[in-house]
Amino acid sequence: MKVSIIGSGYVGSVSAACFAELGHEVICIDIDEEKVKQINAGTAPIWEEGLDELLGKYSQKTLIATSDYDYAVENTDASFICVGTPSGEDGSIDLSIVKAASASLGKAIAKKDRYHVVVVKSTVVPETTEKVVLPIVEEYSGKKAGKDFGIAMNPEFLREGKAVYDFMHPDKIVVGAIDERSSFVVSELYRKLDCEITRTNPRTAEMIKYVNNSFLATKISFANEVGNICKQLGINTYEVMDAVGTDFRIERQFLNCGAGFGGSCFPKDVKALIGKANQIGYAPDLLQSVVDVNNRQPLKMIELLQEKTGDLKNKRIAVLGLAFKNDTDDIRESRSIPVIDKLMQLGADIAAYDPMAEEGMKKLFHDVAYCKSASEALTEAEGCLIMTEWNEFRNLDKEFDLMANRVVIDGRHLINPEKLSTEIDYEGICW
Ligand code: NAD
Repeated sequence: MKVSIIGSGYVGSVSAACFAELGHEVICIDIDEEKVKQINAGTAPIWEEGLDELLGKYSQKTLIATSDYDYAVENTDASFICVGTPSGEDGSIDLSIVKAASASLGKAIAKKDRYHVVVVKSTVVPETTEKVVLPIVEEYSGKKAGKDFGIAMNPEFLREGKAVYDFMHPDKIVVGAIDERSSFVVSELYRKLDCEITRTNPRTAEMIKYVNNSFLATKISFANEVGNICKQLGINTYEVMDAVGTDFRIERQFLNCGAGFGGSCFPKDVKALIGKANQIGYAPDLLQSVVDVNNRQPLKMIELLQEKTGDLKNKRIAVLGLAFKNDTDDIRESRSIPVIDKLMQLGADIAAYDPMAEEGMKKLFHDVAYCKSASEALTEAEGCLIMTEWNEFRNLDKEFDLMANRVVIDGRHLINPEKLSTEIDYEGICW
C-alpha cells in the first residue's frame, strides 16, 4: 500500500521506517525542512535504536520525504497524522498542531479525485477525531467523510528507546474508525504483523491510549508513595514490590520507586485526561494525585542532598543523566529539569553529564557545565544526583573518589554502595 506520514518526529519517523519495512511505499511530510533533508539523506532525525539502519535501507527507494502535502496525498492511499499534541497552559491538550495538519490535509484532499483515509495517530483526547479533525478535513476539502474520504484513529503505544522493536512487535493494535471501509484500509497496513487488531470506534481508540498511559503513570506514583512511606519506616520498598509484583493481578513492572516519570507522554497525557474530565464536569482526584506525587518526587532528591551537604550555594553538584530515561536523547519532561532548576535557584554550580541528551538540555539551561563523562562531572563535586537509568552509571565505582565530598543521591536505584570498592555517603530517594 501507499501511505503518507505527517510529522517526522519520534512517532512519525519510526512509523514511516517500519511501514517501509512492512513493504509499503511511504511519503513523509514535515514542515521542518531540516527533517525532510535528513530523511531523504537516509539519516534519522532522532536517535532511536535501529532507525538509522531502516531509513538508510529504504530512503530514496520506497521512502521519501517532502513538505508538499498535495504531492504526498495524491500519491498515497492514507495519511497518518503524527504531529505533537502538547499540554496547553492549564495542562489540557493543545490541539493547534493537529488542527493545522488537518487543514493542510483537507486542502490536499480537495485536489484529489480518489478516496483517501485520514488516520489520527497522535494521542488526542476522546472525541477529537470525530469532532475536531473530521469537520476540519470536511471544511477544507469540501468533501464528505464516510463517502469521499475515510477517517480513523490508530493510537501508538511504542516506547522511546525501543520504538522500532515495539512497532514491529506490538502487543496491541487498535483501529477506531467511523466506518468499515476506513477500518479495513488501516488494518491492512498492519497485516504482516503478528498481532490481533482491536477494531472499535474512534473515541474508544482515543480513550484506550489515555487509559494505558494513565494506568502506567498511576503505578509509578503509587510505587513512589509506597517508597516514601517505606523509607521512613526503614523498610526496603524494592523487597516489598518484588514480593507484591509476583501477584499476577498486579505484575512487577512499573513498581520501581525513584525520581518519577517524565517523557513526552505520561505527564502530558495524564494532564490531558484530567483536562478532558474537568471539561465534562468530573473531578478526577486519583489522576490529580498521580501528577502531584510525581511533581514532588524529584525535589525530594534536593532535600536529601541538602540534609547531607547543607547550603548548596557555589557548591559543585554533579547531575548524572539528563534524558527522561535511558537509551534516548529525549529530555521532554525529564525529571532532571526541575532538579536543575531548583539547584540553580539555590546557587549551586552544576556539572552535568548524559551520554546522549546534552544537546537538548543545552537549549534549556545555558549556565550548566556540560561534561563529556561521568568522571569529569564528578571531579571535585560536593554531591552527585543520579537522575537517569543509564547502564553506564550502574558500573560507577572508583569515579566517586574524584569527588571533593562523596555524597551520592540515587534517584534510580542504580548503585549498591555495599558492592563499591570505595566508601560513599549514599542515600536512595526512597530506600
Ligand atoms: P514530535 O514533536 O517528535 O514530532 C512532531 C513532528 O511533527 C515534528 O517533526 C514537527 O516538525 C512536525 N510537524 C509539526 N507541525 C506539522 C504540520 N503542520 N505538518 C507536518 N508536520 C508537522 O512528536 P512525537 O513525540 O513524535 O509525538 C507525536 C504524537 O504521538 C503526540 O501526540 C504524542 O503524544 C504521540 N505519541 C508519542 C510517543 C513517543 O514516545 N514520543 C509514543 C506514543 C504516542
